[in-house]
Amino acid sequence: MRCALPTTTKQRYLRGSLITLRRRCGKPGCRCAGKDGVPHESPALSCAIDGKSHVITLAPADVPLVTAALRDYHAEQERLEKACSAGIQWLRGRVDQRRAKRSAS
Ligand SMILES: [Zn+2]
Repeated sequence: MRCALPTTTKQRYLRGSLITLRRRCGKPGCRCAGKDGVPHESPALSCAIDGKSHVITLAPADVPLVTAALRDYHAEQERLEKACSAGIQWLRGRVDQRRAKRSAS
């Protein structure tokens, strides 16, 4: 499901998990009322940012966008992780080279 005209080109990132919230609204006669009532369900994003946990209730239309932002976060995280491995190799090479020069003189 992709819009022909994107409403935004800004890259969004989200960390956390998509969950389903279940609640009873409290209105008598509602399908959620009573012991055998079926609770209302809504998708939500659950995440912890800076030690604070957030649960953000979503509309169904938000779900594909949130899913994409979660996926893009993981892809970016993986990319950074690989870049850091390359960085470690580079740093080791640099340190080894300096040591080799020092012991040669
Ligand atoms: Zn209800």
